[in-house]
Amino acid sequence: MAVTETAAQAAPTAVHEGILRRQSLRESAARTYARSLPIVPVRARGLTIEGADGRRYLDCLSGAGTLALGHNHPVVLEAIRKVIDSGAPLHVLDLATPVKDAFTTELFSTLPRQLADNARVQFCGPAGTDAVEAALKLVRTATGRSGILAFTGAYHGMTAGALAASGGAEDVRVTRLPYPQNYRCPYGVGGERGAELSARWTESLLDDPKGGVPAPAGMILEPVQGEGGVIPAPDNWLRRMREITADRSVPLIADEVQTGVGRTGAFWAVEHSGIVPDVMVLSKAIGGSLPLAVVVYRSDLDAWGPGAHAGTFRGNQLAMAAGAATLAYVRENRLADRAATLGARMLGQLQGLAAQHPCIGDVRGRGLMIGVELVDPEAQDPTGRAPAPASPALAAAVQQECLRRGLIVELGGRHSSVVRLLPPLTLTDEQATAVLDRLADALAAAERTPYRLEQPGLSH
Ligand code: PMP
Repeated sequence: MAVTETAAQAAPTAVHEGILRRQSLRESAARTYARSLPIVPVRARGLTIEGADGRRYLDCLSGAGTLALGHNHPVVLEAIRKVIDSGAPLHVLDLATPVKDAFTTELFSTLPRQLADNARVQFCGPAGTDAVEAALKLVRTATGRSGILAFTGAYHGMTAGALAASGGAEDVRVTRLPYPQNYRCPYGVGGERGAELSARWTESLLDDPKGGVPAPAGMILEPVQGEGGVIPAPDNWLRRMREITADRSVPLIADEVQTGVGRTGAFWAVEHSGIVPDVMVLSKAIGGSLPLAVVVYRSDLDAWGPGAHAGTFRGNQLAMAAGAATLAYVRENRLADRAATLGARMLGQLQGLAAQHPCIGDVRGRGLMIGVELVDPEAQDPTGRAPAPASPALAAAVQQECLRRGLIVELGGRHSSVVRLLPPLTLTDEQATAVLDRLADALAAAERTPYRLEQPGLSH
């Protein structure tokens, strides 16, 4: 009897370990989350994931910000089942279907009115990077120019054009401009003043005949940088970017792949500043947990001929149904407002935690897109002119301590030193408390333990 029980207990652990071992033997060295989060999810609901070893986790990674409603939300499952039970074709290229029609109607109903009233949508290949690529190609076609303006710290994806716009590849056609940062402001002033100086730099570069920047095809920006370390752009700076681009007839592309669908406390993050971009790049949450990406743009930019941008997987019916259900649920239940209120409360509590821990250099975010930057206070420049250096090793240790306490968090930022929280918008007050308690505990434990310097903190 005792032997049987032990065997039964050992079995899930053996399955879990076997799967992880085979993964490390067979999958690419480029795998990312799988390295820092050695779990084998088998069941999930809402905020909770259960691993093959029977352990349960609170998931604040949410598929890198994809799961606006958490895992397997009933309205999402019902929408998927309905399509399957109806006998509708699952693969249709870019043909019209009732499911796609309903998705497009729901999507347009959420978009800034001034854009939606006169917009086109292109269904792209299914990843965010596909939509970024499509957007860059679109503005190049529409303007006949080739240069792209992008920002320091940006992340737009891993395909060639998106990677170049993210600063991860050489591309002479991309000009990198300063994204305003409060904590590590390149001008050392932060706040509105730092943002204004960044805007002036952009303006003067574009107008300087010897600036080395020929008239660009477009400017791409994230209203809140996610992978770059959770850096919200001040609303005034976004309005300045809108003015600067509009005055020079440069299309403005808002990459809302991560910020969209209520995440930042508005349905779309551009709503905070009231700007209307010319192009919006959308993915992640719009597919309700399934792969879906679109680019939405002002009709007069639609200079593409038939087949100018194609792809086999542009018609994922299950993703469109799951996405339409998600968009409608977020809208009807005012989850953007909920994200704003709960996010502000969590930020306040984290600032309280920062007051007790000098290793928390900065706490920032917007809505339920929250970042805690970890630093090495002992290595701070004694003049105090610059913030303490980032501590990727401590961030990696905190991530591991969180995991031990059943909490999954993301790491991001320039040095992978920012602990990121991207919980579902359905997070309850009690769950938020549990998340912050576990994080506080993990931080205290990581501070006490000597952490190794070479721990990789991988994101994306
Ligand atoms: N843009 C932004 C702002 C993102 O955060 C991401 C992914 N983290 C992408 C684009 C790329 O999306 P994908 O990984 O689906 O290609």
